[in-house]
Amino acid sequence: MERLQKVIAQAGITSRRKAEKLIEDGQVKVNGKTVKELGTKVSPSDEIEVDGVPIDKEEPVYFLFYKPSGVISSVKDEKGRKVVTDYFAEIEQRIFPVGRLDYDTSGLLLLTNDGDFANTLMHPKFHVDKHYVAKVRGIPSKEELRKLSNGIRLEDGYTAPAKVKLKSMDRRKNTAIIEMTIHEGRNRQVRRMFEAIGYPVQKLKREGYGYLNLNGLNPGEARELTPHEVKQIR
Ligand code: URA
Repeated sequence: MERLQKVIAQAGITSRRKAEKLIEDGQVKVNGKTVKELGTKVSPSDEIEVDGVPIDKEEPVYFLFYKPSGVISSVKDEKGRKVVTDYFAEIEQRIFPVGRLDYDTSGLLLLTNDGDFANTLMHPKFHVDKHYVAKVRGIPSKEELRKLSNGIRLEDGYTAPAKVKLKSMDRRKNTAIIEMTIHEGRNRQVRRMFEAIGYPVQKLKREGYGYLNLNGLNPGEARELTPHEVKQIR
Protein backbone atom coordinates (compact mmCIF):
# COMPACT_ATOMS: atom_id res chain seq x y z
CA MET A 1 0.00 0.00 0.00
CA GLU A 2 1.25 3.48 -0.90
CA ARG A 3 0.03 6.96 -0.08
CA LEU A 4 -2.30 8.31 -2.74
CA GLN A 5 -0.29 11.49 -3.40
CA LYS A 6 2.87 9.43 -3.93
CA VAL A 7 1.16 7.16 -6.47
CA ILE A 8 -0.14 10.17 -8.40
CA ALA A 9 3.31 11.79 -8.40
CA GLN A 10 4.90 8.49 -9.44
CA ALA A 11 2.64 8.37 -12.48
CA GLY A 12 4.45 11.51 -13.61
CA ILE A 13 1.35 13.73 -13.59
CA THR A 14 2.66 16.27 -11.11
CA SER A 15 4.79 16.76 -8.01
CA ARG A 16 3.79 15.23 -4.69
CA ARG A 17 2.95 18.67 -3.28
CA LYS A 18 0.62 19.45 -6.18
CA ALA A 19 -0.91 15.98 -5.94
CA GLU A 20 -1.82 16.78 -2.33
CA LYS A 21 -3.55 19.93 -3.50
CA LEU A 22 -5.48 17.99 -6.17
CA ILE A 23 -6.67 15.58 -3.47
CA GLU A 24 -7.68 18.35 -1.08
CA ASP A 25 -9.49 20.14 -3.91
CA GLY A 26 -11.60 17.02 -4.54
CA GLN A 27 -10.17 16.31 -7.98
CA VAL A 28 -9.11 12.75 -7.20
CA LYS A 29 -11.26 9.62 -7.13
CA VAL A 30 -10.34 6.16 -5.89
CA ASN A 31 -12.56 3.38 -7.24
CA GLY A 32 -15.10 5.96 -8.32
CA LYS A 33 -15.30 7.81 -4.97
CA THR A 34 -13.85 11.26 -4.34
CA VAL A 35 -11.13 11.11 -1.70
CA LYS A 36 -10.00 14.24 0.14
CA GLU A 37 -8.05 12.57 2.92
CA LEU A 38 -4.28 13.00 2.40
CA GLY A 39 -3.32 9.95 4.40
CA THR A 40 -5.31 7.59 2.15
CA LYS A 41 -3.39 4.45 1.18
CA VAL A 42 -4.01 2.71 -2.11
CA SER A 43 -3.00 -0.66 -3.50
CA PRO A 44 -1.97 -1.45 -7.11
CA SER A 45 -5.46 -2.82 -7.84
CA ASP A 46 -7.19 0.48 -6.92
CA GLU A 47 -8.44 2.59 -9.83
CA ILE A 48 -7.31 6.19 -9.43
CA GLU A 49 -8.70 9.08 -11.46
CA VAL A 50 -7.40 12.63 -11.56
CA ASP A 51 -9.87 15.12 -13.04
CA GLY A 52 -11.85 12.19 -14.39
CA VAL A 53 -8.86 10.63 -16.19
CA PRO A 54 -7.54 7.27 -14.96
CA ILE A 55 -3.84 7.44 -14.12
CA ASP A 56 -1.41 5.17 -15.84
CA LYS A 57 0.15 2.96 -13.19
CA GLU A 58 3.26 1.48 -14.65
CA GLU A 59 5.56 -0.71 -12.64
CA PRO A 60 8.30 1.71 -11.47
CA VAL A 61 11.74 0.89 -12.87
CA TYR A 62 15.12 2.43 -12.12
CA PHE A 63 18.25 2.17 -14.27
CA LEU A 64 21.82 3.28 -13.78
CA PHE A 65 23.24 4.04 -17.23
CA TYR A 66 26.78 4.76 -18.40
CA LYS A 67 26.04 7.47 -20.95
CA PRO A 68 28.60 7.66 -23.72
CA SER A 69 29.59 11.12 -24.92
CA GLY A 70 27.76 12.17 -28.11
CA VAL A 71 24.30 11.23 -26.83
CA ILE A 72 21.45 13.56 -25.84
CA SER A 73 20.00 13.24 -22.30
CA SER A 74 16.44 13.24 -23.53
CA VAL A 75 13.74 10.93 -24.85
CA LYS A 76 13.79 12.47 -28.33
CA ASP A 77 15.79 14.94 -30.36
CA GLU A 78 14.43 17.19 -33.11
CA LYS A 79 17.68 16.90 -35.03
CA GLY A 80 17.51 13.10 -34.97
CA ARG A 81 20.63 12.65 -32.86
CA LYS A 82 21.03 9.63 -30.63
CA VAL A 83 19.18 9.93 -27.30
CA VAL A 84 19.70 8.00 -24.06
CA THR A 85 16.40 6.12 -24.33
CA ASP A 86 17.59 4.61 -27.65
CA TYR A 87 19.64 2.31 -25.42
CA PHE A 88 16.45 1.06 -23.73
CA ALA A 89 14.40 0.18 -26.82
CA GLU A 90 13.35 -3.17 -25.34
CA ILE A 91 12.04 -1.62 -22.08
CA GLU A 92 8.26 -1.26 -22.25
CA GLN A 93 7.97 1.36 -19.50
CA ARG A 94 8.25 4.99 -20.58
CA ILE A 95 11.46 5.98 -18.86
CA PHE A 96 13.20 9.36 -18.89
CA PRO A 97 16.53 10.65 -17.55
CA VAL A 98 16.79 12.11 -14.04
CA GLY A 99 18.38 15.46 -14.86
CA ARG A 100 20.85 15.61 -17.68
CA LEU A 101 24.43 15.35 -18.78
CA ASP A 102 25.65 17.50 -21.67
CA TYR A 103 25.81 15.95 -25.13
CA ASP A 104 29.60 15.67 -24.87
CA THR A 105 29.72 14.57 -21.21
CA SER A 106 29.90 10.85 -20.44
CA GLY A 107 29.08 9.00 -17.25
CA LEU A 108 26.47 8.09 -14.72
CA LEU A 109 22.88 8.95 -15.50
CA LEU A 110 19.78 7.53 -13.82
CA LEU A 111 16.65 6.78 -15.83
CA THR A 112 13.24 5.94 -14.44
CA ASN A 113 9.50 6.17 -15.07
CA ASP A 114 8.97 7.29 -11.45
CA GLY A 115 8.23 11.02 -11.60
CA ASP A 116 8.22 11.35 -7.83
CA PHE A 117 11.70 9.81 -7.53
CA ALA A 118 13.04 12.09 -10.27
CA ASN A 119 11.47 15.23 -8.76
CA THR A 120 12.94 14.46 -5.36
CA LEU A 121 16.46 13.90 -6.69
CA MET A 122 16.39 16.98 -8.88
CA HIS A 123 15.13 19.30 -6.15
CA PRO A 124 17.92 21.70 -5.12
CA LYS A 125 17.19 20.91 -1.47
CA PHE A 126 18.14 17.29 -2.04
CA HIS A 127 21.91 17.47 -1.84
CA VAL A 128 23.17 14.51 -3.77
CA ASP A 129 26.92 14.59 -4.38
CA LYS A 130 27.89 14.35 -8.02
CA HIS A 131 31.44 13.34 -8.66
CA TYR A 132 33.11 14.47 -11.91
CA VAL A 133 36.47 13.94 -13.54
CA ALA A 134 37.49 16.70 -15.94
CA LYS A 135 40.38 16.99 -18.34
CA VAL A 136 41.19 20.67 -18.78
CA ARG A 137 43.46 22.63 -21.06
CA GLY A 138 46.22 24.18 -18.97
CA ILE A 139 47.40 23.35 -15.48
CA PRO A 140 45.58 25.27 -12.75
CA SER A 141 47.52 26.31 -9.64
CA LYS A 142 46.46 25.33 -6.10
CA GLU A 143 45.26 28.88 -5.61
CA GLU A 144 43.05 28.73 -8.70
CA LEU A 145 41.59 25.40 -7.64
CA ARG A 146 40.90 26.80 -4.19
CA LYS A 147 38.71 29.45 -5.85
CA LEU A 148 36.59 26.61 -7.25
CA SER A 149 36.37 24.78 -3.94
CA ASN A 150 35.40 27.96 -2.05
CA GLY A 151 32.71 28.87 -4.56
CA ILE A 152 33.05 31.05 -7.61
CA ARG A 153 30.84 33.66 -9.19
CA LEU A 154 29.06 32.53 -12.34
CA GLU A 155 26.45 34.53 -14.23
CA ASP A 156 23.71 32.78 -12.21
CA GLY A 157 25.36 33.43 -8.85
CA TYR A 158 28.02 31.96 -6.58
CA THR A 159 28.54 28.21 -6.60
CA ALA A 160 28.35 26.29 -3.33
CA PRO A 161 31.61 24.96 -1.84
CA ALA A 162 32.95 22.00 -3.82
CA LYS A 163 35.59 19.33 -3.34
CA VAL A 164 38.34 19.81 -5.91
CA LYS A 165 41.50 17.78 -6.38
CA LEU A 166 44.26 17.82 -8.97
CA LYS A 167 44.76 14.16 -9.94
CA SER A 168 47.49 14.45 -12.54
CA MET A 169 48.99 16.76 -15.11
CA ASP A 170 50.76 16.47 -18.43
CA ARG A 171 53.18 19.35 -18.83
CA ARG A 172 54.08 18.39 -22.39
CA LYS A 173 50.46 18.39 -23.55
CA ASN A 174 49.58 21.19 -21.13
CA THR A 175 46.54 19.41 -19.69
CA ALA A 176 45.40 18.40 -16.20
CA ILE A 177 42.97 15.85 -14.79
CA ILE A 178 40.88 17.25 -11.96
CA GLU A 179 38.28 15.59 -9.75
CA MET A 180 35.37 17.67 -8.55
CA THR A 181 32.41 16.86 -6.34
CA ILE A 182 29.44 19.22 -6.31
CA HIS A 183 25.89 18.84 -5.11
CA GLU A 184 24.33 21.53 -7.25
CA GLY A 185 23.15 20.70 -10.74
CA ARG A 186 23.10 23.91 -12.72
CA ASN A 187 23.28 23.82 -16.47
CA ARG A 188 26.86 23.13 -17.67
CA GLN A 189 28.05 23.95 -14.19
CA VAL A 190 31.39 22.12 -14.15
CA ARG A 191 32.37 23.45 -17.57
CA ARG A 192 31.40 26.98 -16.56
CA MET A 193 33.34 26.76 -13.30
CA PHE A 194 36.55 25.80 -15.09
CA GLU A 195 35.95 28.42 -17.77
CA ALA A 196 35.60 31.01 -15.00
CA ILE A 197 39.20 30.36 -13.91
CA GLY A 198 40.46 30.18 -17.50
CA TYR A 199 40.83 26.41 -18.00
CA PRO A 200 38.41 25.08 -20.62
CA VAL A 201 37.18 21.52 -20.16
CA GLN A 202 38.21 19.15 -22.94
CA LYS A 203 36.59 16.03 -21.55
CA LEU A 204 34.08 15.50 -18.74
CA LYS A 205 32.81 12.36 -17.09
CA ARG A 206 30.43 11.87 -14.15
CA GLU A 207 31.79 8.97 -12.14
CA GLY A 208 29.55 9.09 -9.09
CA TYR A 209 26.03 10.05 -8.06
CA GLY A 210 25.51 9.84 -4.31
CA TYR A 211 27.07 6.54 -3.36
CA LEU A 212 26.36 5.05 -6.81
CA ASN A 213 29.23 4.55 -9.25
CA LEU A 214 29.90 3.08 -12.69
CA ASN A 215 31.68 -0.06 -11.50
CA GLY A 216 31.23 -2.98 -13.88
CA LEU A 217 29.68 -0.94 -16.70
CA ASN A 218 31.09 0.11 -20.06
CA PRO A 219 29.85 3.15 -22.00
CA GLY A 220 26.36 2.40 -23.36
CA GLU A 221 25.62 -0.23 -20.70
CA ALA A 222 23.01 -0.07 -17.94
CA ARG A 223 21.86 -2.03 -14.92
CA GLU A 224 18.77 -1.85 -12.77
CA LEU A 225 19.11 -0.31 -9.32
CA THR A 226 18.45 -2.77 -6.52
CA PRO A 227 15.41 -2.03 -4.31
CA HIS A 228 17.89 -1.25 -1.53
CA GLU A 229 19.67 1.34 -3.71
CA VAL A 230 16.36 2.97 -4.64
CA LYS A 231 15.41 3.27 -0.99
CA GLN A 232 18.81 4.61 0.03
CA ILE A 233 18.89 7.32 -2.60
CA ARG A 234 15.39 8.72 -2.34
N1 URA B 1 28.48 19.93 -15.49
C1 URA B 1 28.68 20.18 -16.80
O1 URA B 1 29.28 21.18 -17.15
N2 URA B 1 28.20 19.30 -17.69
C2 URA B 1 27.54 18.17 -17.35
O2 URA B 1 27.14 17.41 -18.23
C3 URA B 1 27.35 17.93 -15.99
C4 URA B 1 27.82 18.82 -15.08
